[in-house]
Amino acid sequence: MSNVIHRKLLETPPRIVAADGLWVTDADGKRYLDAVSGGVAVSCIGHRNERVKEAIDAQIEAVSYVHSSFFTSDPAEQLAHQLIKAAPDGLSKVLFCSGGSEAVEAALKLVRQTWVERGEPNRRHVISRRQSYHGATLGALSVGGNLARSEIYKPMLFEGHWIDPCYAYREKSDQEDLEAYGLRSANLLEEAILRLGADNVAAFIMEPVVGATLGCAPSAPGYLKRVREICDTYGVLLIFDEIMCGMGRTGTTFSCAEEGVVPDFLTVAKGLGGGFQPIGAVLVGDGPVNDLYQGSGALKHGFTYMAHPVACAAASAVQTVIEEENLLENVATRSEQFFSCLQTRFKDHPNIGDIRGRGLFVGVELVKDRVSKEPFDQDVQLHAVIKKLALEEGLMTYPGSGTVDGLRGDHVVFAPAFTVSEAEIKEIIDRFEVALDRALVSIPQI
Ligand code: PMP
Repeated sequence: MSNVIHRKLLETPPRIVAADGLWVTDADGKRYLDAVSGGVAVSCIGHRNERVKEAIDAQIEAVSYVHSSFFTSDPAEQLAHQLIKAAPDGLSKVLFCSGGSEAVEAALKLVRQTWVERGEPNRRHVISRRQSYHGATLGALSVGGNLARSEIYKPMLFEGHWIDPCYAYREKSDQEDLEAYGLRSANLLEEAILRLGADNVAAFIMEPVVGATLGCAPSAPGYLKRVREICDTYGVLLIFDEIMCGMGRTGTTFSCAEEGVVPDFLTVAKGLGGGFQPIGAVLVGDGPVNDLYQGSGALKHGFTYMAHPVACAAASAVQTVIEEENLLENVATRSEQFFSCLQTRFKDHPNIGDIRGRGLFVGVELVKDRVSKEPFDQDVQLHAVIKKLALEEGLMTYPGSGTVDGLRGDHVVFAPAFTVSEAEIKEIIDRFEVALDRALVSIPQI
């Protein structure tokens, strides 16, 4: 019996012993093609990398750890510089932490401190969207709109205020085009702000391309711009959570850059360190930076491992590899191939309702009926069946579900490493098709 606590308390998953590129091997010698960068869009340059290994070794040789209240370090400064250089104008400072939830938690606390420093302590409400996930710590969890994850831990830290996500496949009417839908969907934010009273609203948080909870649902064109406009009108701070969709995953370093929209806070993690070290970051906009620096002059928030030198060295090397090896070009090429293969193979499949996403962040939504878009019965747990059968077929995918409020059914997320080859994309789709066929045969067709 394992002494490690696993997600399913009574089940020990296969023990992984080796990994290289997009392939991982378990203790029985079984090999899996990793179509989702370590399982959750993390290992963006693949498993094993000599340059990252050398950077980690060199940093451990030089200095493995000192607390960030005593010293800064070369890798922390360098990584911050790389991030700010790649970020849209208006984001100028970086707070480092150890992962995604810590990044969101820090952003929420920075939002709060900004409003207190500005002399508007009544601004305490954070608006977010249904079916969202922003992390597992209590602050991040309480703004998340995926109620299945928070229910058991209630009462939550913040009161939740959720608007519908921008989710064209299910929410756009046949009469409107994507832009009109994007506008209508963004305007829900304005309604929520007015309902709460603008003077009480601190921030709005959202994922520009929704990963785990909606299966790679991009924002409709114009949505981000309108959201920014509304936030500006009412003085509400805007947080983009790019923990999953950022750091090149959707084809550009920050996915909000695709629409030229700049948030006040931008959270990243996962692909930042590529899985070589646990690391997350919050990029902070000039507006809050100014007020934070002019205010009490001290950050009231901190973690022991903030700006950990080895984690920063690893992440800096990962970002250098992406840049110097032109990996975003491969993201563009392989993305085109991925979407076109999926379209060719599944466009008439009776149970694939939608193929969507951006870059190498690809989702398919599974439905019982393509015309009515009726989801599969949630008791069937189709996503879990697919995950299991795909693993049997030697394929790692990220299936999910969350019809807690009747919004949607099951989906599968693919997020392979930026180094994925043409042959590997084909292999991913071949193996997925086998697993999907097996899953559909195995579930009761009620
Ligand atoms: N935000 C988003 C959008 C995420 O996808 C995740 C992780 N799935 C988190 C926050 C939390 O990150 P972590 O698990 O690293 O704490």
